Amino acid sequence: MKYCSTRGNSELVSGAYAIKKGIAPDGGLYMPTEIPKLTEDDIKALCEMDYAHRAADILYRFLDDYNKDELLADCIEAYSEKNFPGGAAPLHQLDEGGYVLELFHGPTCAFKDMALQIMPRLLSRALKMTGEEKTALILVATSGDTGKAALEGYRDVPGIAIKVFYPVHGVSKVQKLQMATQEGENVSVCAIEGNFDDAQNGVKKIFSDAEINKKLNDGGYILTSANSINWGRLAPQVVYYVSAYCDLLKEGVLKSGEVLNFTVPTGNFGNIFAAYIAKQMGLPIGKLICASNRNNILSDFLTTGVYDRRRKFFQTMSPSMDILISSNLERLLYLICGAEKTAEYMARLNSTGKYKIELDELNKIKETFVGYYANEAHTMDEIGFVYDKVKYLSDTHTGVALYCASKFRYYNDENMVTVSTASPYKFAKDVLAAVGGEADGDEFAPLYELNKLTGVEIPAPLATLKDKTVRFTNVISPDEMAEETLKILS
Ligand SMILES: *Cc1c(COP(=O)(O)O)cnc(C)c1O
Repeated sequence: MKYCSTRGNSELVSGAYAIKKGIAPDGGLYMPTEIPKLTEDDIKALCEMDYAHRAADILYRFLDDYNKDELLADCIEAYSEKNFPGGAAPLHQLDEGGYVLELFHGPTCAFKDMALQIMPRLLSRALKMTGEEKTALILVATSGDTGKAALEGYRDVPGIAIKVFYPVHGVSKVQKLQMATQEGENVSVCAIEGNFDDAQNGVKKIFSDAEINKKLNDGGYILTSANSINWGRLAPQVVYYVSAYCDLLKEGVLKSGEVLNFTVPTGNFGNIFAAYIAKQMGLPIGKLICASNRNNILSDFLTTGVYDRRRKFFQTMSPSMDILISSNLERLLYLICGAEKTAEYMARLNSTGKYKIELDELNKIKETFVGYYANEAHTMDEIGFVYDKVKYLSDTHTGVALYCASKFRYYNDENMVTVSTASPYKFAKDVLAAVGGEADGDEFAPLYELNKLTGVEIPAPLATLKDKTVRFTNVISPDEMAEETLKILS
């Protein structure tokens, strides 16, 4: 299996190389040159496997340059009971035909763990397979969830070091504590006086600064990134769609070949694009409901075919979906319109802030995708409504998705799986308010109060956070990021 750029102007590379590099030299994203197919018999065989074996089976279809046994060993470790107590991707039934796919049982209580527990292992092997002798230094700018999940995934992985920058006032107190208490010998965390864009721009500058890159190279390091444009983060996300289908098939909820719909709370379009890949593989997926919050650029695009990022940015209670440039949409454009058109649209986005796709392209996208959005009031109401009705507690991102799913299900009675991307305890303050509670006190007060009110257990990684030692207290200005990064050499 070879990988090409979505913009068509880069050489074909192996899976390992695509994962090591992250982004293609022409600025495009790596895509497999063909999508491997799952037959009905393949799906039946997958039904009999546990999550780790399903993961190894699916990943090997995309990464056939890897050693199959090593891939399986990596998946068994990544998706162990220790990392995902209670299972990697359990389904919870809400009502007749309605399910929630819980992807938040990993070490950081957000769905990023599903990819970031396996990706470091894939990168570590990729470095060996491509003869890389230097240590890979991963730089991350984060607005919260990605930073912690990457730190937890990459901690103590041989041949890799990781440094995370976050905006000092741009993440929640719990998120800040999660990062500041990170354990591991190869990790470091640093706060920036500024917002997420300052952190992001600082990292981008370091990546493109030849002098810094040379200094790092001479000192034995190459720079790489861990964000969701890397194929190594996308491929593992295909697995849970296949796995959810298999679980429902096994339970007899679905008959062989019967379609299943998914609703996905969407920000960078990575999660929902993985579902589209699963559909392209032959998994009987009907519609994919792309759920946005008040930053509804994607539902506008899916309705009109116009992608226009020249709009107001809103901070919402579902911050991981507060995004105006959904990078992975480029991969969908590539599959629908081809590389040449994709390069053209991306150039237009860069220069004018918008592009418009052709009507036949939009119609092709609409065969699968439906775009809905939920504003803040919809989201609060939905969390409260679902809790009252079936005693199911959902986080704010999942609340957006549940609202959009119910809108779709109003006129469609096929089975629907709503993807849940975070533990309600990660956004306890808003969730507590949504179910009618309130709390005074420190950042942990809403967690305890929510637990008291609902009886839902606080996940261990959040419950034990209070007792962890703070290791990282450094706060710097954005201009000092390069200097801070070079400290790894001393
Ligand atoms: C990252 C994230 C999302 C958005 O996922 P994309 O792949 O960027 O679309 C949604 N919810 C939570 C909790 C997240 O952390």
